[in-house]
Amino acid sequence: MDQDCLFCKIVRGETDTRFIYEDDTLVVFKDKYPHRPVHLLIVPKTHIRSINDLKPEHQDIVAKMIFKAPDIARNFKVDQEGYKLLFNVERGGGQIIFHLHLHLMSG
Ligand SMILES: [Zn+2]
Repeated sequence: MDQDCLFCKIVRGETDTRFIYEDDTLVVFKDKYPHRPVHLLIVPKTHIRSINDLKPEHQDIVAKMIFKAPDIARNFKVDQEGYKLLFNVERGGGQIIFHLHLHLMSG
Protein backbone atom coordinates (compact mmCIF):
# COMPACT_ATOMS: atom_id res chain seq x y z
CA MET A 1 0.00 0.00 0.00
CA ASP A 2 1.11 3.51 -0.85
CA GLN A 3 -0.18 6.21 1.53
CA ASP A 4 -0.48 8.88 -1.16
CA CYS A 5 -1.85 6.74 -3.97
CA LEU A 6 -5.45 7.62 -4.90
CA PHE A 7 -6.34 4.08 -5.92
CA CYS A 8 -4.88 2.66 -2.68
CA LYS A 9 -7.17 5.09 -0.84
CA ILE A 10 -10.13 3.95 -2.91
CA VAL A 11 -9.24 0.30 -2.26
CA ARG A 12 -9.08 1.04 1.50
CA GLY A 13 -12.54 2.60 1.33
CA GLU A 14 -11.29 6.09 2.18
CA THR A 15 -13.28 7.77 -0.62
CA ASP A 16 -16.97 7.77 -1.57
CA THR A 17 -16.25 5.57 -4.59
CA ARG A 18 -18.82 2.81 -4.90
CA PHE A 19 -17.55 -0.62 -5.86
CA ILE A 20 -19.34 -2.47 -8.61
CA TYR A 21 -17.44 -5.57 -7.57
CA GLU A 22 -14.96 -6.49 -4.87
CA ASP A 23 -13.09 -9.64 -3.89
CA ASP A 24 -9.82 -10.45 -2.09
CA THR A 25 -7.72 -9.46 -5.10
CA LEU A 26 -9.43 -6.59 -6.88
CA VAL A 27 -12.13 -3.96 -6.99
CA VAL A 28 -14.12 -2.60 -9.92
CA PHE A 29 -15.58 0.90 -10.07
CA LYS A 30 -16.69 3.50 -12.60
CA ASP A 31 -14.10 5.85 -14.05
CA LYS A 32 -14.67 9.31 -12.59
CA TYR A 33 -14.05 10.88 -16.01
CA PRO A 34 -15.67 8.41 -18.40
CA HIS A 35 -14.66 8.44 -22.07
CA ARG A 36 -17.51 6.11 -23.01
CA PRO A 37 -21.05 5.35 -21.75
CA VAL A 38 -19.57 2.31 -20.01
CA HIS A 39 -16.12 3.02 -18.62
CA LEU A 40 -15.03 0.90 -15.68
CA LEU A 41 -11.72 0.35 -13.97
CA ILE A 42 -10.55 -3.04 -12.78
CA VAL A 43 -8.02 -2.35 -10.04
CA PRO A 44 -5.88 -4.77 -8.02
CA LYS A 45 -5.79 -4.22 -4.24
CA THR A 46 -2.01 -4.63 -4.35
CA HIS A 47 -0.14 -1.44 -5.24
CA ILE A 48 1.70 -2.06 -8.51
CA ARG A 49 2.79 1.08 -10.38
CA SER A 50 2.26 -0.08 -13.96
CA ILE A 51 2.60 -2.99 -16.33
CA ASN A 52 6.33 -2.19 -16.36
CA ASP A 53 6.55 -3.11 -12.69
CA LEU A 54 5.03 -6.58 -12.91
CA LYS A 55 6.91 -9.30 -11.08
CA PRO A 56 6.40 -13.06 -11.37
CA GLU A 57 4.28 -13.08 -8.19
CA HIS A 58 1.79 -10.73 -9.86
CA GLN A 59 0.77 -13.29 -12.52
CA ASP A 60 -2.27 -14.37 -10.55
CA ILE A 61 -3.43 -10.82 -9.96
CA VAL A 62 -3.23 -9.85 -13.62
CA ALA A 63 -4.94 -13.06 -14.69
CA LYS A 64 -7.79 -12.36 -12.26
CA MET A 65 -8.16 -8.80 -13.58
CA ILE A 66 -8.49 -10.04 -17.15
CA PHE A 67 -10.74 -12.96 -16.27
CA LYS A 68 -13.07 -10.60 -14.39
CA ALA A 69 -13.57 -8.42 -17.48
CA PRO A 70 -16.08 -10.62 -19.36
CA ASP A 71 -18.10 -11.09 -16.15
CA ILE A 72 -18.37 -7.36 -15.69
CA ALA A 73 -19.11 -6.85 -19.39
CA ARG A 74 -21.96 -9.36 -19.13
CA ASN A 75 -23.35 -7.54 -16.08
CA PHE A 76 -23.40 -4.30 -18.06
CA LYS A 77 -24.83 -6.11 -21.10
CA VAL A 78 -22.01 -5.01 -23.40
CA ASP A 79 -20.39 -8.43 -23.87
CA GLN A 80 -22.20 -9.09 -27.17
CA GLU A 81 -21.82 -5.67 -28.80
CA GLY A 82 -18.20 -5.64 -27.67
CA TYR A 83 -15.87 -3.60 -25.55
CA LYS A 84 -12.29 -2.45 -25.24
CA LEU A 85 -9.78 -3.48 -22.58
CA LEU A 86 -6.88 -1.12 -22.14
CA PHE A 87 -3.77 -0.80 -20.00
CA ASN A 88 -2.17 2.64 -20.25
CA VAL A 89 1.53 2.36 -19.40
CA GLU A 90 3.36 5.37 -17.96
CA ARG A 91 2.76 8.99 -18.97
CA GLY A 92 3.47 8.56 -22.67
CA GLY A 93 0.94 5.73 -22.74
CA GLY A 94 -1.73 7.88 -21.14
CA GLN A 95 -1.43 6.58 -17.59
CA ILE A 96 -2.48 9.24 -15.06
CA ILE A 97 -2.86 7.27 -11.83
CA PHE A 98 0.24 5.21 -11.14
CA HIS A 99 -1.51 2.20 -9.68
CA LEU A 100 -2.14 -0.57 -12.18
CA HIS A 101 -5.66 -0.60 -13.65
CA LEU A 102 -7.45 -2.12 -16.59
CA HIS A 103 -9.99 0.06 -18.44
CA LEU A 104 -13.16 -1.63 -19.68
CA MET A 105 -14.93 0.65 -22.15
CA SER A 106 -17.95 0.24 -24.38
CA GLY A 107 -20.51 2.27 -26.28
ZN1 LIG B 1 -1.78 2.35 -5.09
